[in-house]
Amino acid sequence: MPLEEYRKKRRFDRTTEPEGRKAAAPQRRKALAFVVQKHRATALHYDVRLEWKGVMLSWAVPKGPSYDPTVKRLAMQVEDHPIEYNKFEGIIPEAEYGGGTVMIWDKGTWTSEASDVDAALAKGDLKFALAGKKLRGSWVLVRTRPRGGESRAPWLLIKHRDEWANTEDVTELLPRSVVSNRLLVEIARDEGGNVRKAADGDPPAELRTILENPELLAPRRKGRRKSIWHSKKATS
Ligand code: MN
Repeated sequence: MPLEEYRKKRRFDRTTEPEGRKAAAPQRRKALAFVVQKHRATALHYDVRLEWKGVMLSWAVPKGPSYDPTVKRLAMQVEDHPIEYNKFEGIIPEAEYGGGTVMIWDKGTWTSEASDVDAALAKGDLKFALAGKKLRGSWVLVRTRPRGGESRAPWLLIKHRDEWANTEDVTELLPRSVVSNRLLVEIARDEGGNVRKAADGDPPAELRTILENPELLAPRRKGRRKSIWHSKKATS
């Protein structure tokens, strides 16, 4: 039961996240998917997910990826997610596990640079190439040694030196969804989330630009909100 931990943490009558019941398609020699979901939960983080053997291996990266090879980004491995999760953008109700706003920040395909992915994962040193809309080139996820008190050893996400490496901050530069072009605040507005909480996951400079140029605000999307929970109606 590869998704047991994923399902145990969630109540599917409360959240619109996928249950992951569909049998994973048999592995042909097709490209493997990757997705990065920007997630304003208790704290902001970026969930980096790599398709492997019918699930999405997942790491929560608090500061998000960096193109600067001198920067090492902490990446905590979390439970495997179903492949359908790659399409999830929206709101997890606040009372539920991971409550908050989720954005599809990047997506594309990944290729291992090691011939044996399982061995690389077991060793804690996975070199891979990304072909996404924002993330490209060669990267590594490397597991550190657990320190005292740590139950699980953190990993580090690091950019390799290649023609894609640079020192610009991709999370500041490209803060919008690759599927809907929305900011977190716009996703929260459209889908009944906590707008104020979502907004502090967006770069302040981007929010300021929108206030000065309201035409840049993504048009409101209708009809996607599921009434699985009810906010208090104004009594006046
Ligand atoms: Mn998350």
